[in-house]
Amino acid sequence: MTKDIATPIRTTEILKKYNFLFKKSLGQNFLIDRNILRRITETAGLTKEMNVIEIGPGIGALTEQLAKVSKQVIAFEIDQRLLPILSDTLYDYDNVAIVHADILKTDIMQVMAEHFEDTTAPLKVVANLPYYVTTPIILQLLHAHLPIDTMTFMLQKEVADRISAIPGTKSYGSLSIAIQFYMKAELAFIVPKTVFMPQPNVDSAVIHLTKRKTPAAEVNSESFFFEVTRSAFAQRRKTLWNNLAVRFPEIKKQKDKITSELAAIGIDLTRRGETLSIQEFALLSNFLGKFCEQI
Ligand code: SAM
Repeated sequence: MTKDIATPIRTTEILKKYNFLFKKSLGQNFLIDRNILRRITETAGLTKEMNVIEIGPGIGALTEQLAKVSKQVIAFEIDQRLLPILSDTLYDYDNVAIVHADILKTDIMQVMAEHFEDTTAPLKVVANLPYYVTTPIILQLLHAHLPIDTMTFMLQKEVADRISAIPGTKSYGSLSIAIQFYMKAELAFIVPKTVFMPQPNVDSAVIHLTKRKTPAAEVNSESFFFEVTRSAFAQRRKTLWNNLAVRFPEIKKQKDKITSELAAIGIDLTRRGETLSIQEFALLSNFLGKFCEQI
């Protein structure tokens, strides 16, 4: 099989040949537009010197394009029914390894050591993510501390907006901070529903994340910083003080002292979480962390 997979005719042929029925529960919306695939690989900035990890190859539409422009591809697919299809559709590409696994339960580092010939080559992640599980997958990849340079994802437009949001906007929240702490986030382009088979219910977008050399702010404890940001957004309409006092009730007795000391470093606790930059959240969590240790 040598014709590109991502056309409506070719995809339909493949699905028929294997009697394949989509599983909605696995977020199976396959790309059938070569132009969108070209734009995804261009956004990822791939070259033949780079290794790629793909999550959810489906019938191989994106995998095929990644294989053409990169050194090696490892693609993790959860649905066993797709394995014989992939060995057929990707037969011509000897630089692709399909791994039957749930990406959320896999030791990615170990799989890379088994399959990549050159584990020192720059590493990119590119995927049309299963929409039911986009956020856990991205957070898992970030926390696995893999040597990733960039990640390029197709996902729901609403999630792309939240990931790339800046302070003071409706979409800005703890997800924006969880990702932008480690990565620069850029919304690359919007994708219409018509390029998928079957068509999803929501609009999609491609987002490009670039690893920062160092995190966006200096924090004494990353886990405490993320806890503070999550609690600051627990109820968006509440002030910082009200949200924080629910999560850290021990601060209530010292409200005046905390309020004035934080005001001195530029954090007004009557603000709402959505107005604080990552750097301001770092100041807040470093202060609160020390304060909570003392009481
Ligand atoms: N890459 C293909 C494309 O663009 O046409 C398919 C993308 S489809 C949106 C998502 C794919 O992820 C499906 O093939 C699905 O079976 C797979 N998938 C779903 N959950 C997964 C998981 N936890 N781990 C690995 N693959 C998963």
